[in-house]
Amino acid sequence: MSIQLDFRTLSLTLMLFSLVFGLGMFAYSREHAKFPGIKTIGVGYFLIGGGCVLLGLRHFIYDFASIVISNIAIIMGVVLIYRGLFNFLGISLRFERWLSPTLVVMLAGVLYFYTFHIPDVNQRIQAFSIAFAAACFIGASGLLQHREIHNRMAAKMLIAMFLLVGAFFIFRLLWSFYEIPPDDFMNAGLLSALAIIAGEFLVILSSFCTIWMASDELQDELSEIARVDPLTGIYNRRAFDECCDIEFSRAQRSGTSFAIIMCDLDHFKKVNDQHGHHIGDEVLRHFAAILKNRIRQHDVVARFGGEEFILLLPNSNTEQGLQVAEQLRAKTAATQITIDGDISLTLSASFGVAHYCAGDSEWSAVLHRADNALYAAKKQGRNRVVDLATANQSLKTDLKLAEQT
Ligand code: GH3
Ligand code: MG
Ligand code: MG
Repeated sequence: MSIQLDFRTLSLTLMLFSLVFGLGMFAYSREHAKFPGIKTIGVGYFLIGGGCVLLGLRHFIYDFASIVISNIAIIMGVVLIYRGLFNFLGISLRFERWLSPTLVVMLAGVLYFYTFHIPDVNQRIQAFSIAFAAACFIGASGLLQHREIHNRMAAKMLIAMFLLVGAFFIFRLLWSFYEIPPDDFMNAGLLSALAIIAGEFLVILSSFCTIWMASDELQDELSEIARVDPLTGIYNRRAFDECCDIEFSRAQRSGTSFAIIMCDLDHFKKVNDQHGHHIGDEVLRHFAAILKNRIRQHDVVARFGGEEFILLLPNSNTEQGLQVAEQLRAKTAATQITIDGDISLTLSASFGVAHYCAGDSEWSAVLHRADNALYAAKKQGRNRVVDLATANQSLKTDLKLAEQT
């Protein structure tokens, strides 16, 4: 049984794939101009599609177009696919810059020579196979050298694709030494037909992986947006909750502690009332910057809502939490905030501190204690730092006073 694959029909399908995927890449790059390289990949597909058109017109057009130009267009198409991918992923491969053009020029010379000087189909097949395999290995080596690719799965698929197609063309080259040389490329047999299928594989998989990686990046961006407070640029409550979940599990596992500081600007409503909401917003940004600039690398600061902010201090107890909170309070009270050049304000904030205790069944218990401490700080006159022990003490005093009166 012999498998018959019609070369012209296969060329037509590769042409269709390339043109459709090329158009798709162009449309995608118009919608997502921030992704570099996608247009280049699209041009690569167009070149492969164009090369296939010329290849399929063999015997109907000049040999120069159907042999030399068509093969060069296909190789240039592969070069543009990996150049686009490198650009998209931020890969810079120094030797590729001169190696790819050299490859194309050398192939053009060899194809011209074995078409017009010593016509030899087999030599042309060998030259094209070497050039195609070399292009695939350059593509794979660029991707292999790059360690910071976000979507490793898509990158692995691309590397496997380049290596597989490259290996196929090496096999095709070796096979050409044993087979009886075809009189015409159109009758060059199953391997030539499989070469077209390898081209289809390259076009389909490279476009799929590129769009996969792009959509992954967009998804990351969205989840980052969902974690950041748009006004102050620091984490929002959702992100803070996630950090607390992680820290709580760690504390339970390893027996370490963590502290939570809740803080609230004092009489902030007055700022809005006196200067307007826009100035209030600026004040919130300034306060967030004060908090962010004075914390340690592993601490987390977030906007809890309104003019309330919250901090998570891993590996800390209330003592350390109190120290940090006192520094933040002092810095806030000492900072003169100047807005729009003419409005100058000094603010204060109140802080409540609590830490994780072994009996806490969830981290919200710590948050609740920090909130109570903050409430006590407000009650005691604002612009102060209070921990739970002090808060309880003041609560008892309040109750005693209430009983006495
Ligand atoms: P206290 O010292 O008791 O905390 O008094 P306060 O005035 O700071 O607190 P209150 O809860 O009475 O008012 C908070 C104000 O914060 C009311 C609200 O308009 C304002 N606010 C909340 N979110 C924003 C915001 O995003 N931008 C601006 N400009 N104001 C906000
Ligand atoms: Mg307030
Ligand atoms: Mg408040």
